[in-house]
Amino acid sequence: MDSTFRRTGNIHLQDLIDGLLSGNRAFLSKAITLVESKRSDDKKLSAELIDQILKPTNKSFRIGITGVPGVGKSTFIEAFGKMLTAIGKKVAVLSVDPSSNRTKGSILGDKTRMDELSKDPNAFIRPSASGSSLGGVAHNTREAILLCEAAGFDVIIIETVGVGQSETLVKDMVDYFLLLMLAGGGDELQGIKRGIMEMADHILINKADRDNLKAAKRAREDYKNAVHLFPPNEAAWEVPVGLCSAIEKTGVKETWGEIEKFLSQTKSNGWFDENRKRQALKWFHERIQARLEDHFYSKPEIKQEIKKREELISSQKLSVRKAVDELFKD
Ligand code: GDP
Repeated sequence: MDSTFRRTGNIHLQDLIDGLLSGNRAFLSKAITLVESKRSDDKKLSAELIDQILKPTNKSFRIGITGVPGVGKSTFIEAFGKMLTAIGKKVAVLSVDPSSNRTKGSILGDKTRMDELSKDPNAFIRPSASGSSLGGVAHNTREAILLCEAAGFDVIIIETVGVGQSETLVKDMVDYFLLLMLAGGGDELQGIKRGIMEMADHILINKADRDNLKAAKRAREDYKNAVHLFPPNEAAWEVPVGLCSAIEKTGVKETWGEIEKFLSQTKSNGWFDENRKRQALKWFHERIQARLEDHFYSKPEIKQEIKKREELISSQKLSVRKAVDELFKD
């Protein structure tokens, strides 16, 4: 039994690739696990895997969905995802939670989130990517997106689970960024910073149902006014502010309608491709930085050398400039 065979979960890399390309969800799952692995032999296999599946077709559409916990993200994704599979789309849902480690991630996975969607043969749901750093989580998620696309999923939803750090991270890997809000919470209460609202391509007020409908309509007007004051976005896109009820499934189709408008507008004005190009280049430079850091910190003596200089700097016996120069002296 060769190591390739063992490390891909008892299947040969070529079979894994063939299974993935045929759209098999179990193989897709195995492939994502492989690219998330930190083992150096797995990294070699992952590189080969990514290399072989990479045929950039720009056919898929990547949507980021954010909002504070409790706003209704998973309920919305379930309704939205089901609506999309009903019109013939294949939908993958990945989540990003920088604060999670493997254990917490699996608790989330165990929770019966998106129960119906997870049973849908045209849907694939994967709980949070793990990673020891924000950059690591982002990198793993980006590769998972590529794998989902290779497996034929045409709408990829990236849900942010953590609040605060994950929004920028997700914004940099999606074509469209949807912000779910609640009526009546007040922006501060909702923990949504102005910067996050400015990043959004779409603001959707969820739970616009029952006793809450009136307040939701009022909030829509407020947010519409707020959006008008934001600087124009590079996509030349007028950010829609909509209402929906993920539970009653209202406003869900309309949301897709807006997204299709965005798609046709940004594909014809060139923004769609430009944005993907910029994202790929940013990713490339982030990886260079991560590699440099890894390379530097993996030197056997480096920790001790840093510690020594920390003490000298604290007692003002060494300047920061000199300390750094010394560390980089070969
Ligand atoms: P998440 O933490 O953002 O993923 O939020 P969830 O989808 O888990 O929803 C949090 C709670 O809000 C759950 O109890 C849902 O049933 C409820 N909820 C979600 N969407 C709606 C909605 O459109 N209307 C109402 N009334 N409740 C909702």
